[in-house]
Amino acid sequence: MRNIVLASRNKNKIGEMRQLVSHLGIEILSALDFPDLKEVEEDLPTLEGNALKKARYVNQNTGIPALSDDTGLEVDTLNGAPGVYSARYAGEKVTYQDNVLKLLTEMKGKSDRCAQFRTVVALVDGDKEFTFEGICKGEIISEQRGNKGFGYDPVFLPAGFEQTFAELDPETKNSISHRGRAIQKLIAFLGK
Ligand code: IMP
Repeated sequence: MRNIVLASRNKNKIGEMRQLVSHLGIEILSALDFPDLKEVEEDLPTLEGNALKKARYVNQNTGIPALSDDTGLEVDTLNGAPGVYSARYAGEKVTYQDNVLKLLTEMKGKSDRCAQFRTVVALVDGDKEFTFEGICKGEIISEQRGNKGFGYDPVFLPAGFEQTFAELDPETKNSISHRGRAIQKLIAFLGK
């Protein structure tokens, strides 16, 4: 595999991937290099389904092996919610802060605070399809702490740490995070 196209226009994700695979000699393109690509709606009921849907669309429309990811926060006492709906937990077109506040409201008075972030990365090359899962376990605290990161980071305390994802420096977060772990599995696969 000489090149891969990321099904993303997110410059942070693109930069992170380029850095992570730099030693493999694989060129990382992205949806930014293909302006005609449409935004794929993430409307399936699973992270796997959405990740594969995005990667298939980009692979079919570029002819290049395509990579995508989908992430959800799964809270035990909420039966796995917000899960695949993490980006729109508080509704359509909401901010990260709206979602965090809704989560804190739902968790009020709950003693079981266990949760995990789960990322599924999908790689599609014609009829060859692969998925890689990364999980980071932790708990939801009752008030926001820290101003780094994004999304639910200020209320997520990863297991074994006393700082939230929003208090940890990005290198530490990436080394233990759901996305970091899924990408490490992908890199091990690509390096074979
Ligand atoms: P996506 O699949 O990367 O678009 O993530 C879906 C939603 O999950 C985002 O809108 C965020 O709310 C949340 N999310 C994903 N990754 C993280 C993370 O690393 N920290 C906190 N929230 C995240």
